Order: sequence, then structure tokens, then C-alpha cells
Amino acid sequence: MKINLGNIKKAQKLLNKSECVAIPTETVYGLAGNAYSDKACKIIYKIKKRPKNNPLIVHYLNNQTLKKDCSFNNDFLKLYRVFCPGPITFILDLKKNSKISKIVTNKKNTLAVRFPKHPVTRNLLKKLDFPLAAPSANPSSKVSAVSSNDVKDDFGKKVKYVLDGGKSSIGLESTIIDIRNKPKILRLGGLEISAIEKILKKKITISNNPSKVSSPGQLKIHYSPGIPIRLNVKKTNKKEAYLSIKKMKQNKPNFYFLSKNGDLKEAAKNLYSTLRKIRKKKYKSIAVSKIPNKGLGKTINDRLKRASKF
Ligand code: AMP
Ligand code: MG
Repeated sequence: MKINLGNIKKAQKLLNKSECVAIPTETVYGLAGNAYSDKACKIIYKIKKRPKNNPLIVHYLNNQTLKKDCSFNNDFLKLYRVFCPGPITFILDLKKNSKISKIVTNKKNTLAVRFPKHPVTRNLLKKLDFPLAAPSANPSSKVSAVSSNDVKDDFGKKVKYVLDGGKSSIGLESTIIDIRNKPKILRLGGLEISAIEKILKKKITISNNPSKVSSPGQLKIHYSPGIPIRLNVKKTNKKEAYLSIKKMKQNKPNFYFLSKNGDLKEAAKNLYSTLRKIRKKKYKSIAVSKIPNKGLGKTINDRLKRASKF
């Protein structure tokens, strides 16, 4: 993708004034602000209508720029070397003298950090002398945005500027791992757990207890397209949209598919845009056929399950 330096400059200017801009990442679009500025971070929560107890992920260019804010261990470095920049978010201990706004962390002493791979956002980060707090660029509890038009659809003029970077190549949020002591997955995401286990050479637990939520991405209701979703459906009727993992032999107007041949990467990339497309067609509900529960299919099923709690 060709990088438009004029657009990056525009985003840079607004961010330097503690304004918020939407940024492209390979997972989903983010609603970004200066992570050292209380003012910028307050705007993010306000625009997203995000509960204050749901802390933000902070985006860094690399682990050199992270050093002044967080301490990290060997497990972090092992995963960083292999997967960063990429779709993995680490929960780390905040350093006492860090300048990260208390609004970002809801006064916790831990910080969620990520190193985005998208070339436009990396170029922007290189030009800034602060990291970017950026939750997904969608109203709280709704479907994430995977293109600049999605962000504009959701927020209109409330977001001062949307930096365009095309369609997000992964299309699912990052995998969140608490790496401080015994590694623990807090949210399934765009990086498969088996790949992480291979590098750390150990089995990793998934923390999925909603009564002890430490990461609201775990909350039951989330990622909702705003209409009911039924899962594992074999038979449907023409009043509802029917969503399947691969293209069906029959092609009816209410049939939608996530990939041509059932490829899970392709399906992940198309998940949110297809849910948005269906919503625009004014169907009253969505029926989803069975999706294989392996690899990225696990993340797709996790999102659909939470979205179905509407
Ligand atoms: P989003 O940016 O909308 O994809 O959501 C970010 C996710 O990161 C949410 O589920 C947060 O709760 C989670 N998160 C952010 N900071 C922390 C933290 N310090 N500890 C645990 N989870 C966190
Ligand atoms: Mg989100």
C-alpha cells in the first residue's frame, strides 16, 4: 500500500494537540490519542462511550520506546522477537515513574501494550514522541471497524480525522496475554495460542471466568452487530441472513459467506465487514452455520458467541 505522508502529517498534528484520530492497524482500526495526555484519553472514552473501568491498549513502535514505561521479562522478549510487530497484546507491570495517563489504566499498575504492524501506523508512531492509547474504533460493545468507512459510519464527525490504511489484513482483535508471571491468555485473538505455546515451550491457560473479569474483551456481550445471532444453525428461513464459513452451492439472496473455501484466515478477515454488510440490509436476525473450532476458528466462534448474547 502506498503511504500518503500528507495524511500522516495531518494525524500527527491533531495527536500533538491531544486530539483523537482513528488509525489503521492489521487487527482492527483504533481510536487513538496521546497515552501521556489525560485530555486525549478522556476524549477516547467519551467518543466510544466506553466504561471507565475498561483500560486501553497502548501502541508502541518497539520495545526500546516501551522501556521507560514498563518492565519486562524473558517470556515477553521471546514472544516479542517472533511475533512483534503483530496481533499480540501483553499485560506488563507499569514502572512507577511512567508518564502513562491514569485514565488509560483506570489507576491499575499494569499496562496492556501492543506493537502494530500496519506500515501507515508505524510511520506515524515514528514521528510522535509519545505512544498511542487506542481501543478499537467502534462504539463500546459493538462490532469493530476494519476500514476507514466503518469508522466514519459509526462516529461521523465525532472523530476529527480517520487515517486511511485500507482494509485490516487480520480483521480480529489482538490476542491478549498476561505475561507477568505464569502466562495466561485473557482474550482470544488474531494470533493462535498454539503458536505462542510453541515459542514458550509450555501449555498456556486461558482465563475465561467472566465473574473475575480482568479484561472486558472477555465480557459476555461484546462485538454485537445490533441484531440477534443464532449459532450452529442447519436450516434457515429467508427472513434472516444466513452466514456460513464457505460459499454454499446454492446462492440465495440472504446467503453470506466468510471465505470461498472455508479458509479460516480469510474468514477472520471478512467476519466484521460481513456482519456490518448484513446489518445494513436491515435483516432482523442472523443465523450462522457451524464454524470449525480450531485455530482462528476459535476466535471467530468466541466473537460470534459474545455477539449472540444481544
Ligand atoms: P479493545 O482495545 O477495545 O480491543 O479492548 C482492549 C482490551 O484490553 C480490553 O478487553 C481491556 O480490558 C484489555 N486491557 C487493557 N488493559 C488491561 C490490563 N491492564 N489488564 C487486563 N486487560 C487489559
Ligand atoms: Mg473493542
